Amino acid sequence: MKKTVLFAKNAVNVFFHITTRCNLKCAHCYINPDQHGDHTLPLHTVTDWLGLFYNPGKDANLILLGGEPTLHPELAKIVEAARQIGYGSVTIDTNGYLFHDILDKITPSRVDYFSFSLDGATSATNDRIRGAGCYDTCIRGIRQAAEKGFSVSVIYTVSRQNMHELADMKPILEDLGVSRFFIQVIGIRGRSAGFDKEALQLSPQEWETHVPPVAEAVARSGITVTYPQVFLAPEETFECAGNVAENYFLFPNGRVYQCPLCEDYPLHSMRIENNRICRTPKINEADLFSLDIPEGCVMNKLVQAGNIDYDSGGKPVCKIACCLLKEEIPASL
Ligand code: SF4
Ligand code: SF4
Repeated sequence: MKKTVLFAKNAVNVFFHITTRCNLKCAHCYINPDQHGDHTLPLHTVTDWLGLFYNPGKDANLILLGGEPTLHPELAKIVEAARQIGYGSVTIDTNGYLFHDILDKITPSRVDYFSFSLDGATSATNDRIRGAGCYDTCIRGIRQAAEKGFSVSVIYTVSRQNMHELADMKPILEDLGVSRFFIQVIGIRGRSAGFDKEALQLSPQEWETHVPPVAEAVARSGITVTYPQVFLAPEETFECAGNVAENYFLFPNGRVYQCPLCEDYPLHSMRIENNRICRTPKINEADLFSLDIPEGCVMNKLVQAGNIDYDSGGKPVCKIACCLLKEEIPASL
């Protein structure tokens, strides 16, 4: 049975891009050195910044991202530093290349999940999006991580380029021993913004046809599935995570965003300067969070309005939910 994962009021979630370097050039990559910096943060800076966002009175969750975070030569020490500070969960998102023999430098007790990105059930589809050879490398990485006892999750970013293979992921996930499956919706951001939107974004009907049924089938095979709610019925309540939750998206140039959809723009509400968190002047993302519009998420309307349908009277057929609002179907067998 699916349930909506409400925004946690007593948790701090830190999404830390410790480097913007990456060995790949995925078609939908949102990393932009002009907006996010082009360097790798040294260990001492990562540790200092982790301390800035840690609140001993709240659950602290850390997601380490890039670029490709395993390109950071001191990733294992970063994980250890986060644990020492008090972060209760640590996840590493990876494209599967697992540089610097990272699996040999960390133990499963220190990392909650290695989360691997696969965007197709076949190498033909996945590699068209992520690059030649990625599929085989990622599958190999997942097997190695699982064999070493790490919990493994897979992230699948659904677009019109790969929605036809979403259902084929179930036997692959079972075979690989994956315990969580995250289905993401394509965002028209970063490099994706250069694509024809019609070629990428799913309509509400396509979303309903492809995503929830696959999510339910995968969950029935013993794998917990999480996917964004995306479309809200008119009577459903819209809530912006920026107003009610603590999510911080950190980049190597010191920018701190509360909304991932804002990351392509200099709209960050905070900045780290001299190891202090400084509020940025108006107008920034925080000024958008309280705007009440019939389409739901303001940033969605500004940057990817192609997913909003209107009726003949000009009213939106659905509101667009906060991109951070998730549905979860617990594993069942
Ligand atoms: S692996 Fe991630 S950071 Fe690297 S190009 Fe692909 S989406 Fe971008
Ligand atoms: S995605 Fe929309 S609703 Fe969610 S934090 Fe950003 S602006 Fe708010």
